[in-house]
Amino acid sequence: MKKNVKEILNELNYEDLMKLKYDIDNGALHLKRLLNKKIKEIEQNNMHTCAECGRKINPLTDFEIKIEYGEPDFKRRAYLCSVDCLMDFAKELKSIEIKAKRSKN
Ligand SMILES: [Zn+2]
Repeated sequence: MKKNVKEILNELNYEDLMKLKYDIDNGALHLKRLLNKKIKEIEQNNMHTCAECGRKINPLTDFEIKIEYGEPDFKRRAYLCSVDCLMDFAKELKSIEIKAKRSKN
């Protein structure tokens, strides 16, 4: 369950609230460090790699194309960072499609 800041603060005891207030009154260095660490953790856990050029894509902030392809029993997913990469990847998809059709016949 997602919690908002008010709900998170409601869970802190008086001592933790005083520590937080002290940190904020003194430039919030500790809070900034914790926030940056948490943001980086979320970004790293959600990072995709462009199937064509290998560039890292942050789906939370970057442009991204997601495609799904393959046979019904073996679907694959690819992430692409641009339309140019999609166009190049389409050529690989064409050969994958040809092989798949050949193996059926
Ligand atoms: Zn790319």
